[in-house]
Amino acid sequence: MTRPLIFEISRPGRCATALPALDVPTADLPSSLLRDDLPLPEVSEIDLVRHYTRLSQLNYGVDTGFYPLGSCTMKYNPKINEQMARLPGFARLHPYQDEETAQGALFLMYHLQEFLAEIGGFAAVSLQPAAGAHGELTGVLMMRAYHLDRGDDQRDVILVPDSAHGTNPATTTMSGLKVIEIPSDARGNVDMVALEAACEEHGDRLVGMMLTNPNTLGLFDEHVEEITALVHEHGGLMYGDGANMNALLGIARPGDLGFDVLHYNLHKTFSTPHGGGGPGSGPVGASERLAEFLPLPIVDVDLQRSDDEELFYTFVDPPKSIGRVKAFYGHFGVLVRAYVYIRMLGADGLRRVAEHAVLNANYLKGRLEGTYPLPYDRTCMHEFVLAGPPDDVQAAGVHTLDVAKRLMDYGFHPPTVYFPLIVHEALMIEPTETESLETLDGFVEALLRIADEARADPDLLHAAPHNAPMRRLDEVHAAKKLTLRWKPE
Ligand SMILES: *Cc1c(COP(=O)(O)O)cnc(C)c1O
Repeated sequence: MTRPLIFEISRPGRCATALPALDVPTADLPSSLLRDDLPLPEVSEIDLVRHYTRLSQLNYGVDTGFYPLGSCTMKYNPKINEQMARLPGFARLHPYQDEETAQGALFLMYHLQEFLAEIGGFAAVSLQPAAGAHGELTGVLMMRAYHLDRGDDQRDVILVPDSAHGTNPATTTMSGLKVIEIPSDARGNVDMVALEAACEEHGDRLVGMMLTNPNTLGLFDEHVEEITALVHEHGGLMYGDGANMNALLGIARPGDLGFDVLHYNLHKTFSTPHGGGGPGSGPVGASERLAEFLPLPIVDVDLQRSDDEELFYTFVDPPKSIGRVKAFYGHFGVLVRAYVYIRMLGADGLRRVAEHAVLNANYLKGRLEGTYPLPYDRTCMHEFVLAGPPDDVQAAGVHTLDVAKRLMDYGFHPPTVYFPLIVHEALMIEPTETESLETLDGFVEALLRIADEARADPDLLHAAPHNAPMRRLDEVHAAKKLTLRWKPE
């Protein structure tokens, strides 16, 4: 049932609010600032409350239900993160305040840098980048700056496996460099023969390689240390896409595996809300030799202004910094949330996050692989990829998109679909660590039932979703031509 929009139920004279009595002298506003045509709806308080409550119910979020959107790490965002980010001492800071008056914020940033450096195995971290893809751009510009600083200005090639996240080749191109794609082998690893050939061919033109590990198939590359060594042998640097750190926390450190620079997605691994375009954060960690190229500023201890009682924190510029990549100091509210998350869990808790994320993904994989085709039959990390609905169902014209839409009728957010591109009809499932066994079982039951439905009544799936506020959209049109404002006919 569609309900009338708030503009349509407007009636002159209805009002949802009462202003307090005037306690200052009246004054005339300059008539140049006044307008007659401000067609705001006139509605009662209950109309207003129903309008916004209904809008909030059209949204699906982690706080509504299971959200196994592969590669996005849609874990629960603890509410204490929000409470801490709203503390007036944090929320009301001004970026132009003197450092003396913002020592608490600098303390938090300094320690978050240290925590992330320890988690990733890096020498230094910058909190500046605004999201994962922005961290990638920052890291690749640092790699280029490193080579230029050594007079190696002929290097212009980056190797990117075909199992990488789409942002990796995009970043390379944005940096003015050339992408050479490396295929995967039958086990879903980087094909070592192809990698060796590419290293030989591009040799002294190699800026380096971008590796997503675990990759977008949810698989940990079995030759990761050979890969980093090979690229280093040819004078290249290793970029790590750390968006999948949820599988590694407390277990493996990319810095120890030979990566030179890596971005973290605070809004994925470190539990700050994302989706819907909200602010993210993509700090970058760097090894010893790349640390001096980090974007500025980073936070350090100023020993001269410290005493026995208290350390003084200050912003410093790394000596060969690539410069600023963001106004002011990154998305500070996101930094607060990530800091609280790390402090609440501690080192043991972070490791348990990774263990449970991997366990949950393998549990789902184990329960589904008898029914849905599994292209790479290996222990997965925090996510896994199925090759669409059962073969006989696909032959009858039911596709991954139909399964995804039907899942909505069962109250689940669909997994990522048709990505990664190297799996035909891909269904990419990432449960995260925060879901219970009952939720995982409910999701499995729904997918098994959908496979049966697809055989009995394919059109039921073709017409799904049946219960969602909107049926099937023209997705390109919906993304490119958003209707954000109601307009009268
Ligand atoms: C999400 C993701 C990115 C991009 O991160 P954004 O914060 O969305 O820019 C890059 N790589 C991988 C593997 C990802 O999952």
